Amino acid sequence: MTAPRTIVIAGGGSAGWMTAAALSRFMKNFPADRAVKIILVESDEIGTIGVGEASIPLLGVFNALIGVEERDFIQRTQGTFKLGIEFHGWTRDGESYLHPFGNYGQSLDMTDFHHYWLRARAAGYSAPLDDFNLNTLLARSNRFALRDANPASPLSSIAYAYHFDAGLYARYLRSLAQGNGVERIEGRIVEVQQHAETGFLTGLKLASGQVVEGDFFVDCSGFRGLLIEETLKAGFTDWTGLLPCDSAVAVPSARTEPLLPYTRATARTAGWQWRIPLQHRTGNGYVYATSHISDDEAAATLLANLDGPALTDPRVIRFRTGRRTKAWVKNCVAIGLSAGFLEPLESTSIHLIQKGVTKLLTFMPSGTWSQTLVDEFNRQTTFDYEDVRDFLVLHYKANSREGQPFWDALRHNPVSDSLQARMDLFRDSGRVPVSDHELFKLTSWVAVMLNQGIVPRDYDPMADAIPLSTITGRLDQMRGVLARAALAQPTQAEFIARNCAAF
Ligand SMILES: Cc1cc2nc3c(=O)[nH]c(=O)nc-3n(C[C@H](O)[C@H](O)[C@H](O)COP(=O)(O)OP(=O)(O)OC[C@H]3O[C@@H](n4cnc5c(N)ncnc54)[C@H](O)[C@@H]3O)c2cc1C
Repeated sequence: MTAPRTIVIAGGGSAGWMTAAALSRFMKNFPADRAVKIILVESDEIGTIGVGEASIPLLGVFNALIGVEERDFIQRTQGTFKLGIEFHGWTRDGESYLHPFGNYGQSLDMTDFHHYWLRARAAGYSAPLDDFNLNTLLARSNRFALRDANPASPLSSIAYAYHFDAGLYARYLRSLAQGNGVERIEGRIVEVQQHAETGFLTGLKLASGQVVEGDFFVDCSGFRGLLIEETLKAGFTDWTGLLPCDSAVAVPSARTEPLLPYTRATARTAGWQWRIPLQHRTGNGYVYATSHISDDEAAATLLANLDGPALTDPRVIRFRTGRRTKAWVKNCVAIGLSAGFLEPLESTSIHLIQKGVTKLLTFMPSGTWSQTLVDEFNRQTTFDYEDVRDFLVLHYKANSREGQPFWDALRHNPVSDSLQARMDLFRDSGRVPVSDHELFKLTSWVAVMLNQGIVPRDYDPMADAIPLSTITGRLDQMRGVLARAALAQPTQAEFIARNCAAF
């Protein structure tokens, strides 16, 4: 395989159109003798998965990369802003905490902020860690502000993601991609054609009889993995033992007030319920394990726990947790659900699409066939999925919902060695070593571990290098600045009405 001349993308969900928009954004500028044609095949008859509305902050980076301006994005996708995720009932019923995107406080000297707070707390200081996180303060009062690039401003610590209508996002990306020259072909793929000797893919035969030929293929066909699995037999690494939920029931409901600037994930008997506020409606769903609850019971629980009238009938979606054993085989790369799936507890699937697309841009084949390039892509993809998996497993492992079979089983379930080591280290000394490649950074791990009951026995001794009175003085000062900054901001509803109400 040499540098591709025709790239065929199979599927037009979020994965297909994100891939098409990103590849075309760069490849449209290739010189004529290296020109690459991009074709996307999708089937209206089959449709898309139709869920996937919450994101993490890095989506803003992807949008900027492909030329999508933030205000335009919010307006076109009925979008809202997301400051974090509220986990309701994951410790005990009635208790909740926020996993915020922005940092906790500012380091006072040698070590991370939370160690100074742990030291002060051990000496009787009572202010909660939440008081040092502007995202949390804003979220708790339904307020929102953009990040201020000036590092001296307290608003510089804000980090946010989006809630958006995934169907509208795909439509927006489609117009961008087609504007960049991507050809869209409507049709149902009935056969994937391969080279008789090499097994490399050569074309997609449609129900109409048309054959769409290419020399490089991106499988964005959803769960079934039409190219990567059904044809190339890449294999599936199953993680159901670690994350046993295998279904979701989803239903949109009418918008309610206030317009919350965060996603809510509420623990239920056999899984958890999501709530995603958009400008025109609220997205809801119950992710559950069929080994512990029936579809009917899950749907009834969901419908009984909406905060507005349901807008459609509930819809059940089945899934299998895990990753494609090889995301790249021969001349085919899987991106999106065809590459794997992890439940949407931390809204990571669209991010994994983004990661897949940017890796593909980085590893685009050039002059000569290189298996090492393919192997490196697959190695990094494995890391990305395992990294997210461990963070999700943490939420279940550290639950305190005693006496409930689903939750008891997960509390006692063994986890990966690396996750166990991280939990042990935090419990012993509050330390969280996070590498640059990991998606979730210090704030995320501290937020989930501390709030779900993994309480450090000690703190980093470097926090002793500053007198206690200086630490508590600085903490009080920081708290005051953040509280005042939060109160000065508009509600998210006011912010959106003023700046980016949907068309
Ligand atoms: C319950 C649930 C909740 C989720 N929530 C979130 C969330 O909050 N945040 C998040 O980031 N992600 C979430 N996700 C994941 C998110 O929905 C997906 O990652 C995203 O939609 C990408 O899907 P896709 O494009 O890979 O597949 P799909 O949307 O299934 O698209 C597949 C495409 O392939 C086409 N296709 C398939 N077969 C053929 C054929 N034979 N011929 C022609 N075309 C074909 C289809 O027509 C379609 O265009 C959630 C997923 C589930 C299941």
